Amino acid sequence: QAGDLADRVGGAHISTGDIFRANVAEGTPLGVEAKKYMDAGQYVPDAVTNAMVRDRLAQDDAKAFVLDGYPRTADQVGELDGILGAIGAKLDGVIELMVSDREELVQRMIKRAETSGRADDTEEVIRHRQDVYDNETAALIPIYSARGILHEVDGVGTIDEVAARILDVVNTLDQA
Ligand code: AMP
Repeated sequence: QAGDLADRVGGAHISTGDIFRANVAEGTPLGVEAKKYMDAGQYVPDAVTNAMVRDRLAQDDAKAFVLDGYPRTADQVGELDGILGAIGAKLDGVIELMVSDREELVQRMIKRAETSGRADDTEEVIRHRQDVYDNETAALIPIYSARGILHEVDGVGTIDEVAARILDVVNTLDQA
């Protein structure tokens, strides 16, 4: 959904997971470090992730962007605020994709495992990632809600249905 949205709005799709996976595939020092955490379904340490996003947002094509999978911790929120402040950018909105049935999410990822080739798409690691979300990332919802930029979008439906809902929200955003 994030990649499709970036295409539609003409921004860079910045997925921290994709950048980590590219580094793992190339065997870079960053990839070697990140893989230890990714395979276990743990978050890569904030200092590593934040530095990577800082570099990515400094690139020329990142004038407009869709962040995918970042920030995921309260520390990353504070760091992102600093990065955006320094480059004179801001978040127009934050999309929360709502799926009330956790089992549906787990089953979707188990299905994805058939084609994703991701080492972390095993049922055990998938379930652990749900717990990490609860412990580390759920706390970001009230933070962005208090800022008035959080938008809930129903995440149950076909890919096209969910994409249309996201686009409806994005079209209402103040992108000044
Ligand atoms: P994703 O592709 O977004 O599901 O991310 C895959 C894995 O990459 C996660 O389980 C983490 O190990 C790591 N990762 C991606 N984004 C972050 C982030 N913002 N903070 C820490 N680790 C991350």
